[in-house]
Amino acid sequence: MKILKTIQELTDFRNTLKSSSSLEKNKIGFVPTMGALHQGHISLIKKSVLENEITIVSIFVNPTQFLEGEDFEKYPKRYEADIKICELANVDALFMPSVQTMYFKDEPLILAPAKSSFALEGFKRPGHFDGVLRVVLKLFNLVKPTNAYFGKKDAQQLFLLQNMVQTLFLDVNIIPCEIVRDEYGLALSSRNVYLSEVEKQKALSISKSLKIASREVMQGNLDATSIKAKMQEIMCDIEVEYIEIVSRDFQKLDMLQIKNSIILVAAKVGTTRLIDNIWM
Ligand code: AMP
Repeated sequence: MKILKTIQELTDFRNTLKSSSSLEKNKIGFVPTMGALHQGHISLIKKSVLENEITIVSIFVNPTQFLEGEDFEKYPKRYEADIKICELANVDALFMPSVQTMYFKDEPLILAPAKSSFALEGFKRPGHFDGVLRVVLKLFNLVKPTNAYFGKKDAQQLFLLQNMVQTLFLDVNIIPCEIVRDEYGLALSSRNVYLSEVEKQKALSISKSLKIASREVMQGNLDATSIKAKMQEIMCDIEVEYIEIVSRDFQKLDMLQIKNSIILVAAKVGTTRLIDNIWM
């Protein structure tokens, strides 16, 4: 596995692929991450390795998607373990650029569409999605992947990336990947390391509330207000930021369209902010 830190190293790697026979079908899979890799990331990487001739993973803690006062400085970093994980997963190249490599002092900005980026996560974290789109567009331009893999765990991010690819006519397929959970149902996240054992127990109410919500829907309850109230009750021990039920294109729903809704939760457990969702 090649470890690439500069744009030149990445470009050279891309060029050697062109001149070698490793790209007969011209299929490059790309998995952008912020590192501290866990089984959720690994599931994306495995899917990419399976579906492409070459897989490139990036690890970049992107400053522009963090708001003032968020955890940018203390975001977990485990570079040695991450490198081992990628090697074991048969990744071909790991791109680990510095902030100076990725950003210029004066550069054009890409902004997430106002209507869909200011609700939910965008409302709670204004500017967050601008930073996400900005860095992913840069990474797409550098890596030039055929397929790019993203988790459904970040459902609104996934929607906005699909929107960016569609509206900017980018030549890349966005591949949505299922949410990976621990044995108790907690959605895996690099931020789970911030949780104490007690907080971890409390955090389980998030996935539990989503499970109950989906059971309600399956049993014919189509009233979003009553479902949200039930979920809120289950999460009474944690600080719920929002519970929302949206269509696949992130329009809010009052009455569920069972097959096409996403039920989303954001909550703080102690000082750790967690998000989770379930796709109906
Ligand atoms: P991050 O490193 O948190 O930026 O995540 C990198 C990618 O991994 C994103 O596409 C996430 O949606 C995805 N991801 C993170 N956690 C999970 C999970 N538990 N299951 C599936 N995908 C995940």
